[in-house]
Amino acid sequence: DPGLPIARCTASGDLQITDEARLLFGRCPGKSSRHADSAEWLQLASRLEANLGSLNSELNAHVESGDAESAVAVLAQISERRLKPDVVTYTTLMKAGARSVSPSDVEQIVLSALQEKILVDIGFFSTALYAFARAGDLPRAERCVLIMRDARIVPDLACYNSLIHAASKAGQLHRVQHWLDQAEMSGLPMTGVCYASVLNACAKVADAEGAEAAASLWSMAVSAKWREQWIEAAVQKGSETDLAVSQIRSDLGYEKSAEQLRALQKTGLLRLTDLKNDPAKFFEAHRLLAHHAPKLGPGFWIRFTVHYNLFAGSVLAVGNDQQVAQLDDIQQKGLLGCFGLTEKLAGVNSGGVVKTTAEWDDASKEFVITSSDVGAHKNWISQGLVGELAVVVADLRVAGKRCGAHAFLMQLRKEGQPVPNVELGDMGRKTVGNDLDNAWIAFHGARIPHSALLNRYGDVQPGNGGTYISKAKGLTNMGMIGQRLFSGRVAVAWAALTFTRKLYDMTRQYSDRKKCWAPKGTSNLTSVPQLNHLYARADSNLAQLESFVGECERQLNDCLRKDEIPSVALQEAIACAKIVASETSIDLCFRLKQDVGSHALMGDTGFEQMDFLQACKFAEGDSRILMQKLARDRVKVSKAIGSSEEQRLTAELQAALKGGAQAWDENFDKVYDLAWHVVTRNIDTLCPGATLRLPCGLSKL
Ligand SMILES: Cc1cc2nc3c(=O)[nH]c(=O)nc-3n(C[C@H](O)[C@H](O)[C@H](O)COP(=O)(O)OP(=O)(O)OC[C@H]3O[C@@H](n4cnc5c(N)ncnc54)[C@H](O)[C@@H]3O)c2cc1C
Repeated sequence: DPGLPIARCTASGDLQITDEARLLFGRCPGKSSRHADSAEWLQLASRLEANLGSLNSELNAHVESGDAESAVAVLAQISERRLKPDVVTYTTLMKAGARSVSPSDVEQIVLSALQEKILVDIGFFSTALYAFARAGDLPRAERCVLIMRDARIVPDLACYNSLIHAASKAGQLHRVQHWLDQAEMSGLPMTGVCYASVLNACAKVADAEGAEAAASLWSMAVSAKWREQWIEAAVQKGSETDLAVSQIRSDLGYEKSAEQLRALQKTGLLRLTDLKNDPAKFFEAHRLLAHHAPKLGPGFWIRFTVHYNLFAGSVLAVGNDQQVAQLDDIQQKGLLGCFGLTEKLAGVNSGGVVKTTAEWDDASKEFVITSSDVGAHKNWISQGLVGELAVVVADLRVAGKRCGAHAFLMQLRKEGQPVPNVELGDMGRKTVGNDLDNAWIAFHGARIPHSALLNRYGDVQPGNGGTYISKAKGLTNMGMIGQRLFSGRVAVAWAALTFTRKLYDMTRQYSDRKKCWAPKGTSNLTSVPQLNHLYARADSNLAQLESFVGECERQLNDCLRKDEIPSVALQEAIACAKIVASETSIDLCFRLKQDVGSHALMGDTGFEQMDFLQACKFAEGDSRILMQKLARDRVKVSKAIGSSEEQRLTAELQAALKGGAQAWDENFDKVYDLAWHVVTRNIDTLCPGATLRLPCGLSKL
């Protein structure tokens, strides 16, 4: 532009860029100090022949002063001059969106920019997310992140702040937690800004939706301190035994690995009673540990959940008050417990089938624990080779009568040696998790005292050979032990999803950096179409399942705190959560392994720990067994429930079963098909919009 002053010489001899030049080159539409108000700035702009930079500046000035009409006029000028809007134009428009335009218009701006193939940047997306957050539009904010990842732009702290803010405005606490987790997992320096945003959100929710949500968010923000200690700072001054999660190692032998759990529980950061008193913390501890699973494998995670959920959880579920009180002592001394349910013959059907017996001896007032044969040996018992204590499930016999499966809290080891008449062996080397000891246990008439029976719901009264007393009508000891399976299933579902998220994040970091030849010039591995689509699909599947499992957890926590049995509907939803989280994770990780090339063969990439998910598949209820139960429960109901396909399969199985029980196995494909329909219906009920496909581990031969 002839005649435009580019720079002036100041009194001190320096060159200073003129405002006119700034305006004309205006990629950065800021105001100079001399022109403090936007009216003067606009006047200056009008003196110049407009180009895109100056029009963007003008647009920005109108947006800042809230003059929508003039902003629209500038847009018209841009199009009249056949100028192509750039990322600054679109970002400026979205800034207006944050003030006055509806979230759907902001979303439209994002989509138009991408359609126009505008080179978008992090500022563009963070402005859009800010607009969605202000409107409390969580679905649009989460969709925007998917688009962003598609454009290969990694969210920064400002983006996470907006997501946390949007989730809290929408009152979705588990999504607040999720985005807080994601921010932490992405390795961004957590300077407290995210937590501050949670606190800010508390105040806002308090205005809008009442004190309850605010209190819950508030405690979430306060728990940030706890999380920090659990992950990083549990080592207290002067103590050599305390340990934090980030220091856990998996390259240690059984004893040393167990020492880590003893140290972790001695910190007292997670109480053995928290499953009942503070279940949200219990699940959070499991999730934070699972973040490390692609590095550590499944060994320590299983050791941890067996001790806190299966062992201590069973005492909480069926122990009397004194037995529950013992847990504090166990924790303080750093003792470890295992859970002996599975038997060699019964396998995944253990619990329903129990061949270990506990015979009441009225003379000595003891129980005599015996494995009736080799098939009754307990097997796969985690921590069995190091634990001092065990909860053992055995079929109770009193005065020659069978009273059903009951749980006994017994000493397994004294001064490092197994107690008399208990024989233990090692299950052998596994593909992963060899820091965890898995034992087989044979009982040869081991004697345990009357007080060993966890007797909140049923007891034995000594005298005259002994009498069995049921303490609560309709509640069986085994049924109540089964309650532990619900918390276990939710914990396992989270573990599978957390492992998968982490493996995808780690792999994505690699594929973003990895250069790749392409016909139109060098690109990166992420842009290979099948991998790119897989990333997008994984993101949307995982987001949906995290919402679903989060909702199951929220409802279960309520029951745990109130000491109530979950409703049948919630029990079914939890079974679905366990199946779908582990099977979809197996599917997604398997596909990732197929499409990322040689990287998947390398050590320390997380792929070598993929059998973590195999353990998720059969822990706390094997996928197939749970699916059989879902299908059995479904065919008992004649009411029209679910899709027409679900109703058709139900009717066909009901008709086939009229010909005899063998029809069940003969139609096994239909049984699993029906179960999958029940799974997707459950997800759709709690988190509408299911788009899941049948995972490869459940597909037909
Ligand atoms: C690392 C690890 C840690 C464990 N920790 C513990 C623990 O601490 N305490 C404990 O009690 N247990 C523990 N277990 C046991 C675990 O919970 C399973 O019960 C056990 O692994 C079953 O294994 P299995 O191969 O013997 O099952 P099997 O019964 O032989 O089943 C093999 C497969 O056949 C299928 N199947 C079997 N029966 C049926 C049927 N009727 N209908 C349809 N399909 C069927 C199942 O899908 C299963 O995948 C652990 C297992 C492992 C591997």
